[in-house]
Amino acid sequence: MSICNIFHYSTSIEDALQTLGNSKGIAKVLAGGTDLILDLQQGRHSPVDTLVDITNIPELNVLEYRDQKLFIGASVPHRMITNSPDVISHSQALAEASGLIGGPQVRNVATLGGNVAHALPAADGTIALMAMDAKAEIATLEGRRMTPLKEIFRGPGKSTLDPKKELLVGFYLSKKIENAGSSFKRIMRPQGVAIAILNCGLWLEREGNIVKDIRISIGPSGPVPRRLIEVENSLRGKQPSTEAITEANIVLQEEANFRTSRHRASEEYRKEMAAVLLKNTLLAAWERSGAEGEFND
Ligand SMILES: Cc1cc2nc3c(=O)[nH]c(=O)nc-3n(C[C@H](O)[C@H](O)[C@H](O)COP(=O)(O)OP(=O)(O)OC[C@H]3O[C@@H](n4cnc5c(N)ncnc54)[C@H](O)[C@@H]3O)c2cc1C
Repeated sequence: MSICNIFHYSTSIEDALQTLGNSKGIAKVLAGGTDLILDLQQGRHSPVDTLVDITNIPELNVLEYRDQKLFIGASVPHRMITNSPDVISHSQALAEASGLIGGPQVRNVATLGGNVAHALPAADGTIALMAMDAKAEIATLEGRRMTPLKEIFRGPGKSTLDPKKELLVGFYLSKKIENAGSSFKRIMRPQGVAIAILNCGLWLEREGNIVKDIRISIGPSGPVPRRLIEVENSLRGKQPSTEAITEANIVLQEEANFRTSRHRASEEYRKEMAAVLLKNTLLAAWERSGAEGEFND
């Protein structure tokens, strides 16, 4: 059984958008297909009329510097991201997240744009991008716009992107600044389903032995990928210590919504593990910011 009526290979963004817009029925962009094809085959997605393959569009496959930012095209596969010396040096959390996605076969084809557009609240690449404060570039036939990542998410598996009119072009990341570090960690089931019980992306800037600024994203901690602003506020201006992390954990339990999930874990387990994950991710980023022996245990 065919999964669509029309399958179109695009080699330009304009052509992809025109084909999507001209489709008589449901039209979808196809990147690595590791989410979409399975959803179509297993009936989690309504049948589509048109699939537009965007993996051969040159601009979507670029990883380069643009205007002092690191640009990662939406169709860049996770393998390339995790192996990129530029991503490793400027956005270690993202390199780590991409390196944990699936296995080598999945990382060879699965893309960062697909990870974001699929809009799951614990997608690894997305959680890392949230912590890195990435901006997304979106193309329409009328022009392009930049948007903070959080504007792309509407609900679990639902993005704000108009599938017939909008295409993710890529993501812009700031270069690493002095005394800053980032980290991504996740907790998985030892066997079975390949979804995270919890994951955490964290970026911080250090001033002496104080957290000058910090961004934290934990997934899934609500219906959409999100930053934990109150937890960030509780750690900003403090020295990472057992006391500061204990206080941050109290805020975390209030701010995040950890629910029992049949596929992931119980609420109680997740609450306990979130505290461990936050501490470990924070300390890894702290160490990477150049701090030496300054964690006050
Ligand atoms: C075995 C296996 C293991 C996995 N493990 C993990 C894991 O550990 N962590 C994790 O986060 N995910 C995991 N995934 C999920 C998946 O691999 C990732 O989410 C991947 O990044 C999706 O990218 P893709 O290119 O395959 O997207 P696709 O399946 O091609 O597309 C996904 C969605 O995004 C849309 N889309 C794609 N590109 C664009 C664009 N440029 N503009 C607008 N819309 C777009 C598509 O229309 C579709 O709705 C796993 C999947 C499999 C099969």
